[in-house]
Amino acid sequence: MAIVVQKYGGTSVGDVDRMKRVADRVARTHRAGNQTVVVVSAMGTTTDELVSMASRISERPPERELDILLTSGERISMSLLAMALHDRDVPAKSFTGSQAGIITDAVHGKARIVDITPGRVQEALDDGNVVIVAGFQGVSQDTKDITTLGRGGSDTTAVALAASLKADVCEIYTDVDGVYTADPRIVPTAHKLDRVSYEEMLELAAQGAKVLQVRSVEFGRNHGVRIHVRSSFSFNDGTWVGPQEDIVEDAIISGVAHDTSEAKLTIQQVPDRPGVASRLFSALAEDNINIDMIVQNVSADGRTDISFTLPRGETDKARAVLEPLCSELGAEGVRVDEEIAKVSLVGAGMKTHPGVAAKMFGALSAAGVNIEMISTSTIRVSVVVAKDQVETAVQAVHAAFGLGDDAQLLEDA
Ligand code: ADP
Ligand code: ASP
Ligand code: MG
Repeated sequence: MAIVVQKYGGTSVGDVDRMKRVADRVARTHRAGNQTVVVVSAMGTTTDELVSMASRISERPPERELDILLTSGERISMSLLAMALHDRDVPAKSFTGSQAGIITDAVHGKARIVDITPGRVQEALDDGNVVIVAGFQGVSQDTKDITTLGRGGSDTTAVALAASLKADVCEIYTDVDGVYTADPRIVPTAHKLDRVSYEEMLELAAQGAKVLQVRSVEFGRNHGVRIHVRSSFSFNDGTWVGPQEDIVEDAIISGVAHDTSEAKLTIQQVPDRPGVASRLFSALAEDNINIDMIVQNVSADGRTDISFTLPRGETDKARAVLEPLCSELGAEGVRVDEEIAKVSLVGAGMKTHPGVAAKMFGALSAAGVNIEMISTSTIRVSVVVAKDQVETAVQAVHAAFGLGDDAQLLEDA
């Protein structure tokens, strides 16, 4: 008997009718003789609504309480889906993340899964049930409090469960047909990739292609989970995420990702002496603030500006950490720019093909887009640009590398 893990995202369970259609699909998988585990997201925009409700009731909602609130969205979905399956004569049992044995660290809002003890899930499967697990949540082994895994975290619940149950496949059902060469909402001519390697998918996800949460791809890579990203609205084959050796086409570039969820923070006029950067970034790390790109300017008169990007939601926390340190170290202060976006080009073939960065910068310049920061890895080039130019930037880079039909048209013109 094959073990299949399926995850349905917010749009796929967006209303009662869609939930019923998901139940039909799950019932079909169950009747085909598979042991079926289903991970569900909150319905539609429920999580956003809960976040907004919390912010209307309190300026700084305690992280512990916010997590308890947010997990309720997924619990609504799991119980409704179980009811719909019972109606279809399919035995089904729903479990919260904690009941399903999703054990995390104690970091609220972006907890990491540290262990999975799926005893109850396995037992319910062995009894012939479809098992439904609320996505995006777990329980801290230290504090015993309920935690959430960060936005998009149901993907990670699904892949982590698939790894621990040694599932044959983890299907991620979403509102697009698979992973595209760019967000199809911004580049309508983007191409669907039949296959993408874990490494490339990790970079695309880390750089904002929210079709998979980055930690789900890490789990997939570390445990060799076969991930199939596909649409819940069709039966088309989607995109398989797997090891590099499975990739047959030899594309240099796999796609363009963009991220508008970050801000740029600049620490101004920092004394340029050993130990200062270490003090600043250690303090941020202690408060679990995720830093992304870092740029230090050329020093003048023994002082320099240090800029970095971070999730926009963490700028207040970062300010609170850095402002006292600025006075202590003799830096001038902290400036935050929220009107930025990051655009990244990803492709394993970059390792062996020179000139990729030059071509990307050329395309941005031709489109009149100014580059504010640059960072690279062996398979990625990322730039920070003004937020109001993000669509222009993505489209220009996508076209320059011939990733969609638009590139052909541009070249022909
Ligand atoms: P779900 O609610 O199913 O988890 P998400 O909204 O989290 O769905 O992720 C799917 C969305 O990801 C798509 O609707 C699409 O707009 C966006 N997306 C961004 N980059 C990509 C990409 N490269 N390929 C496919 N979708 C992408
Ligand atoms: N409901 C959560 C979110 O909106 C988790 C998820 O959908 O993956 O981020
Ligand atoms: Mg998602």
